[in-house]
Formats: sequence, C-alpha cells, structure tokens
Amino acid sequence: MSGTLIAGWLRLAAARIAAERVHLTELDAAIGDGDHGINMHRGFRALETRMAAGDIATDAPGSLLILAGRTITGTVGGASGALYGRALMRAGAALEAWSGEPGMTSAQLGAALRAAVNGVAALGRSRPGEKTMLDALVPAADAFEAASAVGVDLAGALRRAADAAEAGARATLPIMATKGRASYLGERSIGHLDPGAVSSALLVRALADAAAGGA
Ligand code: ADP
Ligand code: MG
Repeated sequence: MSGTLIAGWLRLAAARIAAERVHLTELDAAIGDGDHGINMHRGFRALETRMAAGDIATDAPGSLLILAGRTITGTVGGASGALYGRALMRAGAALEAWSGEPGMTSAQLGAALRAAVNGVAALGRSRPGEKTMLDALVPAADAFEAASAVGVDLAGALRRAADAAEAGARATLPIMATKGRASYLGERSIGHLDPGAVSSALLVRALADAAAGGA
C-alpha cells in the first residue's frame, strides 16, 4: 500500500457522499438547516473534479490532503466545511515529510488521524458528548491507536476505527446537542442522529474500505 491510499480514499468518499447526500440532508433538516448533504456533495464533487483534471497532484499524500482541505473549506460552506477542511489540512501537515512511498505505516496514519481530530476540536471548541462529528471521530482515532498498539495491521485497525465511528454516530441519537446549529433546539435535538457524526463515520468507513481494497 502506498500514498495512493489517500487519493483512493478521497475518490471513494466522494462517491459515497454523492450516494448519501439525500440522507445526510434529511438528518440535517431534522435538527439543523437541511444543507449538510448538499454542502458535502458540493465540496467532494469539486475535489474529485480537481483531482481528475490534474489541478491537484495526487502523488504526495501530505500536499494532496492540504489541497483537499483548502478545496473543502472553500466549497463545502457551513460549519462542516471549515471543520473538515481543517481536519484534512492538519492530517496533511502531519504527513508532509512523507513522499508516499514505500507504504504508509500505522504510526503515520495514527498521527494523521489524531492531528485531524484535534484540529476539529480546536476549531470547533468542542469535545465528544456534544452531538457533533467528534462523537464519531474521537472513537475512531482511539480505536485505531488501540488496535495498532496490540499489533493489528493498518487495514484491520482502520476497520475497527470505522466500526467505532459508526457506533459513535449511532450513539448521538439520545444526546442533547450543545454545539453547532442543533444546539439551538435544546432538548428537541434529542432522538435524532447528528448529521456530521454520520458523515464522519462514512468518511472513516471509506478510508477503511480503500485500505482493504489495497488502494
Ligand atoms: P451548518 O451547521 O453550518 O449548516 P453543516 O450542516 O454542513 O453546517 O454541518 C453540521 C454539522 O457540523 C453538525 O452535524 C456537527 O456534526 C458539525 N458541527 C457543528 N458545529 C460543530 C463544532 N463546534 N464542533 C464540531 N462539529 C461541529
Ligand atoms: Mg446545516
């Protein structure tokens, strides 16, 4: 597995977001302003187009992630655009010194994941338990590190990370939102999934699947 994992992940993520855009927007309509799927689709479609056109070089993972982050920040809009953009840029900065060959190590990917999650928490001034994307992303980074620490390989650790992200997204259902637009609803946010946690779980699953496919 080489640096193409990141490019493969971004393309797979774009396809899955396109497929899930109506669902993500419905989730946001219930506790936000109903634009999350539209926002994410606009951003990832722009990213895919720029990658396909060669406007964004896909060989060096660090700079690819940084340019992807800039693209997402500039095109997604909404809170999630700034947060996902920051996450990608921080992950890219963590991998900047790496050419993309021979292959990504678990230590490299773990550092990039943790940098991304910390970037969201810092920009959003948020932490798990507030019904946001961090309820999926923090368990994912934790699960990846825990699995890697006991010798699970990169693809296996990513599968556990994706399982943890999906469980974390499901666990947003009973939480009362205290960050983001959903927090305006107070107790009425209870009983709904957080759209950003669901899109985060989708992104981590796409990464796991890209790794499992040998991308
Ligand atoms: P907006 O809320 O501006 O319409 P989106 O609908 O695209 O933006 O994204 C909403 C998602 O952003 C929420 O579901 C939540 O997961 C995430 N979010 C919002 N504010 C924060 C924050 N402060 N920290 C972490 N995530 C946040
Ligand atoms: Mg919204």
